[in-house]
Amino acid sequence: MGKILPEGEGEVQEYVDICDYAVGLSRIMSGKVIPSERPGHMLLEQWNPMGIIGVISAFNFPVAVFGWNQALALVGGNATLWKGAPSTNLASVAVTRIVADVLERNNMPGAVSSLVCGGADIGQLMAEDKNVNVLSFTGSTRVGREVGLTVQRRFGRSILELGGNNAIIVMNDADLKLVVPATVFAAVGTAGQRCTTTRRLLLHEDIHDTVVERVVKAYKQIKIGSPLEPGVLCGPLHTKAAVQQYKDAIAAAVAQGGKVIHGGNVLERKGNFVEPTIILASPNMPIVKQETFVPILYVMKFKTFEEAVEINNSVDQGLSSSVFTKDTTNLFKWMGPHGSDCGIVNVNIPTSGAEIGGAFGGEKETGGGRESGSDAWKQYMRRSTCTINYSDQLPLAQGIKFE
Ligand code: NAD
Repeated sequence: MGKILPEGEGEVQEYVDICDYAVGLSRIMSGKVIPSERPGHMLLEQWNPMGIIGVISAFNFPVAVFGWNQALALVGGNATLWKGAPSTNLASVAVTRIVADVLERNNMPGAVSSLVCGGADIGQLMAEDKNVNVLSFTGSTRVGREVGLTVQRRFGRSILELGGNNAIIVMNDADLKLVVPATVFAAVGTAGQRCTTTRRLLLHEDIHDTVVERVVKAYKQIKIGSPLEPGVLCGPLHTKAAVQQYKDAIAAAVAQGGKVIHGGNVLERKGNFVEPTIILASPNMPIVKQETFVPILYVMKFKTFEEAVEINNSVDQGLSSSVFTKDTTNLFKWMGPHGSDCGIVNVNIPTSGAEIGGAFGGEKETGGGRESGSDAWKQYMRRSTCTINYSDQLPLAQGIKFE
């Protein structure tokens, strides 16, 4: 899809990691044993497969996102039907061939891992099809909203992983030597085309100018070019449409009072190359509330921790968020009920680069789904609550007598 080689290799590694994880998980996908109120009875939970898990994935993670879904689906006893993005079909075909080969070598039918290629029309059919018991959708909020409704209409289950608008908050006690590389990695990685890309940098007024100066200095050293060339940090945007969105967002930001302090230009060369861009902005500008899937970083100033949290939470998306601080009071507030409202709540690391061991996903317009680690596997399973009477009596629940 145009990401630099080390990030592409990282994506494949993520698939390998989730397979390792799922193999271990398959031995501990345990249900509860629950005390019964009735004598001579017991209650237990058994987790059964759902059947067919549909996976519709976005262009920006053409390998790992399917891996997250498939590894958990398979160890739960399900089959998968995958539709990748129409612009990354070669990655989908390559992955499916590798997986099919592994399945066949282990005497499993390759069709356990099925692939369809196509666009919105095929995705729509998957959303409508009752045979697709769970539909895991990764993509934009606009499309996810429709897909979620379509699946709900037939009482199917959906897992929605939609857009983000992620912020890093930097307090005045933060270790600034961590902040600068973290921000550059998370704002420019994958040319700003990660769901967890840092799009908003919220700086305490005491350190605002220092951090801006250092981040701009770091941006000046970013090498833009062929994603396969060593040393390049920023590859191209995926499409011409994305280049247009980049131009439109910068024009809108300037019209709304923003000031471009680095970048802002489309590069005059073959391919969809743009300069990673930094814009001084204010939290009330409508453009900063949107997810624009390009490398534009909006920088904002705040006075108090509470104000920063409010700005963090003031957008419709709720995927990832970070604070840089050494203050334990703020750290625990950040994780608690009055802190970040996102699904991913980080401290002293950036918004991107999640590990597979935790549940991944976000709240609000990010869709509420969770994939990957922790107990995300339960979404691919049907919970059976089983009550067993091992006595020779038939006592009824709630002490009801039916004589
Ligand atoms: P997109 O919504 O345009 O497309 C995503 C997928 O949906 C593609 O496979 C596409 O063919 C399919 N699709 C399009 N219309 C459909 C329809 N009507 N019914 C069913 N399927 C349909 O998104 P994109 O441009 O490929 O990806 C970028 C978006 O994905 C960003 O918003 C990004 O934040 C989001 N994303 C989220 C996560 C996450 O985990 N939260 C991860 C990666 C990407």
